[in-house]
Amino acid sequence: MGAAELASVPAIATRLGHWIGGRLHTAPGARTQPVFNPATGDVARQVVLATTADVDAAVAAAKAAFPAWADTPPIRRARVLLQFLELLNRHRDALAALITAEHGKVYSDAQGEVSRGIDVVEFACGIPQLLKGDYTDQVSTGIDNWTMRQPLGVVAGVTPFNFPCMVPCWMFPVALACGNSFVLKPSERDPSASLFIAELLQRAGLPDGVFNVVQGDKVAVDALIEHPDVKALSFVGSTPIAHYLYERGAHFGKRVQALGGAKNHMVVMPDADLDQAVDALVGAAYGSAGERCMAISVAVLVGDVADKIVPRLAERARQLKVGNGMAPDAEMGPVVTQQARERICGYIDEGVRSGAQLVVDGRGLTVAGHERGFWLGGTLFDHVTPEMRIYREEIFGPVLSCVRVRDFAEAVQLVNAHEFGNGVACYTRDGHVAREFARRIEVGMVGINVPIPVPMAWHGFGGWKKSLFGDMHAYGEEGVRFYTRQKSVMQRWPESTAKGAEFTMPVAK
Ligand code: NAD
Repeated sequence: MGAAELASVPAIATRLGHWIGGRLHTAPGARTQPVFNPATGDVARQVVLATTADVDAAVAAAKAAFPAWADTPPIRRARVLLQFLELLNRHRDALAALITAEHGKVYSDAQGEVSRGIDVVEFACGIPQLLKGDYTDQVSTGIDNWTMRQPLGVVAGVTPFNFPCMVPCWMFPVALACGNSFVLKPSERDPSASLFIAELLQRAGLPDGVFNVVQGDKVAVDALIEHPDVKALSFVGSTPIAHYLYERGAHFGKRVQALGGAKNHMVVMPDADLDQAVDALVGAAYGSAGERCMAISVAVLVGDVADKIVPRLAERARQLKVGNGMAPDAEMGPVVTQQARERICGYIDEGVRSGAQLVVDGRGLTVAGHERGFWLGGTLFDHVTPEMRIYREEIFGPVLSCVRVRDFAEAVQLVNAHEFGNGVACYTRDGHVAREFARRIEVGMVGINVPIPVPMAWHGFGGWKKSLFGDMHAYGEEGVRFYTRQKSVMQRWPESTAKGAEFTMPVAK
């Protein structure tokens, strides 16, 4: 997309509105919130915050569009998604630049995020195969039985700031492919990507009203939870809000999948390739400034590993190239907001107070020419223990805590005792240790010598314990099940129907 075309996209406007029924609504007079460029600290634009009436309008548009879309043959729905895929590929770099401008992550990382979103769109294009039902001929004499999966109606997604393209793509491509209409409530901190996506979907031929965006905060989310025409809610964000949404959603009779926060451990065994382990820890702890739900925030160092690698981790943390995400050599950008920086600094203060050893202190970092940006350097703690708040709570910043343990059993016990269970990794060369780890660990997504084991689009994403409320993972076949309901049909014809009423439980004859 050239500069001129980019400038015409509504997402680049200075006032970001809702996308309802295929049109942008800038809602004059509405409450607004500033959207920052985290690298400069400047307010780049304002996003409007929906009222309950705005949510009602979006849900009404989605409800009106639903019957025709649900009746559209799956292969034709897939063709719209294929067109969208083609447009997304064509404009992927513009979308990545938009993400960097509002989130702060480095451009190559934003490109990676878009790629992982595209994976799910590709998966959803296979919907005719995924929606095939089961059929049994002759369940009883002259009777056949089959199942089909039908869309739910209007479904909604509420998404976090840290993946403004990828996480919505965990939801809407599968939901739309299944025949639902969709209302997205993106994060108010980086809302532009959602409007960019809405426009590309429209250009791809998606009928107006099938995909809608309401910008906003708690008011919009509560209106979606309480709306009787919203049949299912997908949420990704922090654990307290995930839990809230799960409880309230159930109260209002909705199907809910609510993915929450994380504290991901990486266990390094003494036999691991320590060069690879150091590379993995540095990338997984500090990539995207630690603002990933699959970031590694705890290194569990077994036996003598700590003495060997903590000095190397410290050296690498100090050498991190922190800068504007659009700078080609930047390895880590700013954190998302000034408040996020203050919260993370508060955790670093707290770690020092509780007795952890602060090996590298990222506080106070500034970047020349960008003095007002929301900067933090890579931070490293050693001798962290399980009762410390910096161990127990999700910091969601570039802070890596090293915990020293005696052996493998202690490492597994430590991980399993944590209340979060999103991702985990084990670095080892021992096949038996790896196998035991994968089987015994109480975490939803496991990496063996893979630091960030985000499952591919056809496998489904989800943690355990307080990292996921609900029983269905995002995307993959579980995503298809979440966005559809199964109907079972039994059929026979008069020629194979015996005369007379039957008063006993029907059994196979
Ligand atoms: P957040 O919970 O603050 O916000 C997520 C969404 O909820 C946003 O759309 C926001 O507007 C809305 N929201 C915020 N407060 C609300 C309230 N009181 N009532 C109703 N809705 C509310 O999360 P965030 O800061 O945007 O994102 C970071 C969090 O998301 C981290 O905890 C991270 O681990 C988590 N996350 C989890 C996954 C996962 O797959 N498990 C993936 C990405 C991010």
